[in-house]
Amino acid sequence: MRELPVRQPAFPSPAGTAAHPPHHLAHPPQGGGSRPSGRERPAGQRQVVGSVSLISLGCSRTLVDSELYLGKLRQVGYQIVQDVEGSDAVIINTCSFIQDAVKESVDTILQAVEMKKQGKVRAVFVAGCLVQRFKDDVIKELPEVDGFLGVDGFGEVEDVVGKALAGTRTTALHRQPLLPHQGQPEREALTPSHYAYLKVSEGCLKGCSFCIIPKIKGPLSSRSIEDLVEEARRLVETRGVKELIVVGQDTSDYGVDRYGAPRIADALTGLAKINGLRWIRLLYFHPRGLTPEVVAVLRDEPRVCKYLDMAIEHADDDVLRRMNRLVTQASLRGTVATLRREIPDIALRTSVIVGFPGETDAAFDNLLAFLEETQFERLGAFQYSPEEGAAAFRAPDQVPPGVRKVRFDRLMAVQQRIAAAVNSRWLGRTTEVIIDEPDAEDPAVFHGRTRADCPEVDGGVYVHADRPLAPGDVVPVTITDTYEYDLVGRVVLAG
Ligand code: SF4
Repeated sequence: MRELPVRQPAFPSPAGTAAHPPHHLAHPPQGGGSRPSGRERPAGQRQVVGSVSLISLGCSRTLVDSELYLGKLRQVGYQIVQDVEGSDAVIINTCSFIQDAVKESVDTILQAVEMKKQGKVRAVFVAGCLVQRFKDDVIKELPEVDGFLGVDGFGEVEDVVGKALAGTRTTALHRQPLLPHQGQPEREALTPSHYAYLKVSEGCLKGCSFCIIPKIKGPLSSRSIEDLVEEARRLVETRGVKELIVVGQDTSDYGVDRYGAPRIADALTGLAKINGLRWIRLLYFHPRGLTPEVVAVLRDEPRVCKYLDMAIEHADDDVLRRMNRLVTQASLRGTVATLRREIPDIALRTSVIVGFPGETDAAFDNLLAFLEETQFERLGAFQYSPEEGAAAFRAPDQVPPGVRKVRFDRLMAVQQRIAAAVNSRWLGRTTEVIIDEPDAEDPAVFHGRTRADCPEVDGGVYVHADRPLAPGDVVPVTITDTYEYDLVGRVVLAG
């Protein structure tokens, strides 16, 4: 097991680390819905036993876990506060899928430990993927931390925090299957109240050779469709959620473990019956899992956005084989062609890795050519990160970091051109836009997104309006200007 970089003397002291704001807690929920800080204790609620803050790092799936941790602690009497400073306990829900994420998690933990030394917080807890991946090492390497929770430790968070605040360092690492909604506490909103993530499953059955996630999250564990619909209904009723973003490690396999076959289309159909929901968005879909049922629900269900996040990771057959992606360039081309034929105005988001072991110049050019041909509306790119424990870690033909960087920059330049061309096609069109927030400077401008923009990862729309708009409002907007990643438009006045 490689040493965690924690103890390398070069490691900057908390003061030196980037002032990483508490993730998400830095963006208090807009408009209605539940606010974490200082709310009055309704009659009959338990005595406040302490105050808890939380820093949620990494992905939307971890964010859902963070909301459950806070929901559980509020349920048992803790006050949920925004600021780490002055709180009794801070929980850092970590990420560790690549080295950069490990470094960010460790930076943040050291920052919190430093605050504890300065008496600004009483106890520090570390949860999530860093703990699940490095287990005993992280516990040994961070003696100043008061408690550790593996992934989905909702059942133990009360115990771990309570014992540590009483002076006993506690660790809860054993895995539990995903709790049905009935067993789950009310999630504490860490997103603006008009959108929320819905985690349909945990774990993954695939075995991509660059990926450590199945080792961290285990095999696929899907929740029941009834459970998902019940949770989504609660999110609409209690938070006023208008947009639901469906996530998992691999949503294309949702249900295979529980129903013996993929049931994501049925889950989306069930969710689309919930009144009050305007938009449903599907993320983390493996291209191998496209079925006629999925195409039909994306095409025919008005509340389901014609948007699909479908990572291809690469497009060269030799590299796809080395990645164990279970697809070929031809099958990817067929999948994209089916989606574009059946749903002409679909927005496809994808992600790719450059510099994977064995990626030759020709293989890289093959990827670029495929991106030019396919014109993905949205794209995220990563430089390959060798991860101990992933099959590719000891693969031959590692690509030097300098070459990875050059390829990354070339690819991003190509995609910037594609993004500009894609966005230019919106000029003059009128489309639905959901409002996220007012502009900080101009009261007549609001930030929003079309159905083709996922929160936090895609671009947005600068909306000019002659009347105040609230977060969650869905308004018709005519696009008046376009940029690579953003659009500008004006609200269409009612006739
Ligand atoms: S589908 Fe592949 S990349 Fe995604 S979580 Fe599973 S193994 Fe990792």
